[in-house]
Amino acid sequence: MSTAHLPPASVAVVLGTRPELVKLAPLMHELGPAARLLHTGQHWDEAMSGRFLRELALPDPELLTGVGGRPRAGQIAHSLDQLDDAFVRHRPVAVVVQGDTNATLAGALAANARDIPLVHVEAGLRSFDRAMPEEHNRVMVDHVSDLLCAATATNAANLRAESVDEHRITVTGNTVVEVVRAQLPTEPARAALVAGYGLRPDGYVLATVHRPENTDTAAALRAVLTELDTIARFGTEVLFPMHPRTRAAVERFDLTSLTTRITTIEPVGYAEFLALARHAALLVSDSGGIQEECTVLGRPLLVVRRSTERPEAVDAGFAALVRPGAELGETAHAWLADSAERLARLATTPSPYGDGLASARIARLTAQLAESPVLAA
Ligand code: UDP
Repeated sequence: MSTAHLPPASVAVVLGTRPELVKLAPLMHELGPAARLLHTGQHWDEAMSGRFLRELALPDPELLTGVGGRPRAGQIAHSLDQLDDAFVRHRPVAVVVQGDTNATLAGALAANARDIPLVHVEAGLRSFDRAMPEEHNRVMVDHVSDLLCAATATNAANLRAESVDEHRITVTGNTVVEVVRAQLPTEPARAALVAGYGLRPDGYVLATVHRPENTDTAAALRAVLTELDTIARFGTEVLFPMHPRTRAAVERFDLTSLTTRITTIEPVGYAEFLALARHAALLVSDSGGIQEECTVLGRPLLVVRRSTERPEAVDAGFAALVRPGAELGETAHAWLADSAERLARLATTPSPYGDGLASARIARLTAQLAESPVLAA
């Protein structure tokens, strides 16, 4: 079934944050005029959404109001109410959500409430860490979805272990592979960008840290910043595009003195981030998407988290989980010491996240589901 048969604006794509814009962009391109973009406004500002819409050539979204800045329940409730109105006004043939945010859950519940076929992109991720709200969002969304697009065999196995019907699961690969390939600037453009920051290719650390486990307490954030400061003190430059939540936490906990040797900058656009990541000697992050992107870019990553729902990058040798204090510092030191050999090895290690055709597969399956929702029964 081709997407060409889908009526204009008939597939509602619901999202609310930066990583969802990134990962759903190639799918929206595949869907073409059939895609209808609804943005809950969970992270709505120029730096985190506006420029990503332009950079990724996405259509102007229908923007929900009054969602950002509320506690979790309020975000979900406000989104759900407005999505329900939007779906009644113009009923979609299918709803697509991605990942594990509050927007993902709201989109899924809105589709479920109106009996609209639901597609979950990046289904089956599990951290098995019930302290993370994202884990609850993933589980709930998976269990109401009709088409579960698992990025990897591991993700599909997680779904089977929860008794999700086999006919609802397809291993598609992860759309991140094609978005990275499409958005990574050319080699000369990357070289100019890296030089513009005064950095040497393969000679710096790129860090992003923003998850509650690293920013909600002074002790955790201090532990991360102390190790990054030590890396900088020993001569490896550290570039840190700082998420608004992290910047606020640094000020709240009075930790600015630990950021003087680190180069902190505002969050950057997607292509710029990929260029910087592509030439970093080491990435340090608690992000989900970066755990996948590092495998396409062939760069090593220290994941500053107590658990990960993405074991594939660790198993393939791209990433390691570290605790925010000494373990981060010691592992960074060891990985920087054998950097040349590690970078050479990773450059030839295939990404475990697929072949770059996930979006095309998901678009086709979505068209099929819209045509015969009975498949989902
Ligand atoms: N990213 C970006 N600019 C930055 C930092 C990150 O474009 O300054 C991208 C990054 O490449 C990844 C996404 O933002 O695709 C990750 O977003 P975030 O860490 O907010 O979410 P998560 O992936 O943890 O869900």
